[in-house]
Amino acid sequence: MLNKIISSRFDVPGNHTLATYAANGGYSSLPKVFAMKPDEVTEEVKKSGLRGRGGAGFPTGMKWSFVPKNIDKPRYLCVNADEGEPGTFKDRLILEFDPHALVEGIIVCCYAVGIHTAFIYIRGEYDAQIARLSAAVKEAYHAGYLGKNVKGSNGFALDVVVHRGAGAYICGEETGLIESLEGKKGQPRPKPPFPAVVGVFGCPTVVNNVETLSALPWIINNGADAYAAIGTEKSKGTMLFSISGMVERPGVYESEFGVNLWEFIERSTGGIKGGKKLKAVIPGGSSSAILTADEARNVKLDYESIAAAGSMVGSGAIMVLDEDTSVVKALEVVLRFYAHESCGQCPPCREGTYWLYEIVHRIREGKGRPEDIDLMLSICPDMSGRTVCVLADSAAGPTASYIKKFRHEFEAYIQRANAPERQLHPGGVNLESRAL
Ligand code: SF4
Repeated sequence: MLNKIISSRFDVPGNHTLATYAANGGYSSLPKVFAMKPDEVTEEVKKSGLRGRGGAGFPTGMKWSFVPKNIDKPRYLCVNADEGEPGTFKDRLILEFDPHALVEGIIVCCYAVGIHTAFIYIRGEYDAQIARLSAAVKEAYHAGYLGKNVKGSNGFALDVVVHRGAGAYICGEETGLIESLEGKKGQPRPKPPFPAVVGVFGCPTVVNNVETLSALPWIINNGADAYAAIGTEKSKGTMLFSISGMVERPGVYESEFGVNLWEFIERSTGGIKGGKKLKAVIPGGSSSAILTADEARNVKLDYESIAAAGSMVGSGAIMVLDEDTSVVKALEVVLRFYAHESCGQCPPCREGTYWLYEIVHRIREGKGRPEDIDLMLSICPDMSGRTVCVLADSAAGPTASYIKKFRHEFEAYIQRANAPERQLHPGGVNLESRAL
């Protein structure tokens, strides 16, 4: 079973240095790329079926082909390294242990799209990763892989700038990232126009995730057909999954698409901590809908199957809840995050995230009112699909799913709050259990 493309060099000592990376086949895709026409590289990436690994899962080659060709403006690449979705920590490993794979992928993308400047917008808290990435970029310049005439090309020029973010989750949204990069408040822009047409400094811009770009050297070296042969019909290749929560060995694990979700979690992490029972799985980061234990055991890990189960692969952040984990507390943590991170420009998001958090907070505190559950459910539809970006949906979607699938837990908290002596203990729910 092939399951290591992106993570194959994570354990190689010193792989973050150019010497070790090159000694293990690094930068070997470039002669092949420069022997092709730029459009042929894009076609190869389209044929591979690679989809964006930042959350949306949009086909990468198709995204590149939206960039206008005959336009008298520079084109830019923005690498989205602002990894901030709760539970997501996969790009962090690439940035720290395989930064040259990202640089090599950037060169492939920029050559294909005719880009001569790439910005890597990296999460401000990633100190160690910023240091490793900056050192890798410096090494690549010294070795001639970046600069006025990229090694092996016929005069292809490429500059790469590492730009440190200032800590706002919403700057991981592509237009929020662009606004921030331009020196403005990191607030998402209405779309259209999409960044491929009007992006950084008003110019056509590709925004790609770290993992997406890091897959490109393997695709070029091994061929689109080899990549497309891995996974399922529509979910090609492999993906890194950050698995956290109540498992024996949380961590980042790579898998091809199409495997059984729970079997993958169990095989990778050793299963639930302390032999407890599985309660639920959040499969795609805090913005994804929750799956019950039965759903998690019976679904395949690919974009289509997870979507058919009512959730999403998202950023590949899998969070596992055991039988002692309170779904109410878990939702409180999620909603506190979104209320805090809303940029505030859309009332349904600014008000909706605040009120959802306030209500779940009072439920969790034991001050819930009988009407609170339906009140939360009534707020969600007014948030979804009505805002500039999907942050509002990211709060409303999980709220509706947590309540729908675990309503009895919310009711138990409220019943206790409204019991005459405040001492009823609802069956089956440990109200003092931990949050994620
Ligand atoms: Fe800002 Fe929320 Fe509107 Fe997104 S949905 S632009 S985060 S207010």
